[in-house]
Amino acid sequence: MRVLVLGGTGEGRALATRLAREPGLEVTTSLAGRVADPRRPPGDVRSGGFGGVDGLAAYLIHRRVEAVVDATHPFASRMTGNAVAACGRLGVPLLVLRRPGWVAAECDDWWRVPDAVSAASAVTRLAPEGATVLLTLGRGGVAAFAGDDARHYVIRSVDPPDGALPPRRTLLAARGPFTPEAERAVFREHAVAVLVTKDSGGDATAAKLITARDAGLAVVMIDRPPLPEGARVTRSVAGAVAWVLGRSTGPSASDSPERDIARP
Ligand code: NAP
Repeated sequence: MRVLVLGGTGEGRALATRLAREPGLEVTTSLAGRVADPRRPPGDVRSGGFGGVDGLAAYLIHRRVEAVVDATHPFASRMTGNAVAACGRLGVPLLVLRRPGWVAAECDDWWRVPDAVSAASAVTRLAPEGATVLLTLGRGGVAAFAGDDARHYVIRSVDPPDGALPPRRTLLAARGPFTPEAERAVFREHAVAVLVTKDSGGDATAAKLITARDAGLAVVMIDRPPLPEGARVTRSVAGAVAWVLGRSTGPSASDSPERDIARP
């Protein structure tokens, strides 16, 4: 069975690694091709956009793909929307693999906002002028803070951020996972007063939230974009493995693993 994994995440790599051991599966991982030096999963890897819904549909037909797992990042909503549309059009089974979002503890001072523009506005209320704000938004979203010349921004991302940047800034090139010790050192060195992040979920980048909690700092948390209506979703790599293996052993077995699949 030919399986396409839409990747770019640790879960995508873990899934491809696990499926590579299975006889009878041909697994290709697709990466967007944006990161200069991506971590490549085992097996066949393709890179670069498909060219929208039509391009993805043409790829699925040409490669005779029989199942797709969208293991892209929770904020890669365009790719997920395209996958839902193309697979729906062709009747190719699709599972979306989404790790759970982060949950605040009672003692946390989190401010949930819908997008980067609202996050920038929240920062002006939460961080006094002259304070340092740590942005961990990846490449995108930083431009929303470009108009603020009253605060200093420490901008951490794997590759340099896109678009306009705030005038008072420090760029930190770094790739997770981050340990609690390393996060404490970053917060201390830059005297971080407020953290702005996206609700990516997962363990690899969660240490900053513990550090903020221990230091009693406010966290501006950008909510995930919603999943397309009707998408079939699992929260775990194990759930995705079970779904793929179920499909490869016949249509009746293919439906049973979906019992533990949640639709958030
Ligand atoms: P996006 O806005 O949803 O996607 C923009 C376009 O990039 C898509 O329309 C598609 O181009 C192409 N694309 C995205 N993921 C692809 C994939 N796995 N394979 C082939 N083409 C892909 O996505 P994004 O937020 O820019 O993220 C790009 C990639 O980085 C994703 O694969 C995601 O898993 C990874 N990533 C994203 C974040 C984040 O915070 N957004 C964080 C960590 C990793 P076409 O329309 O031409 O097909």
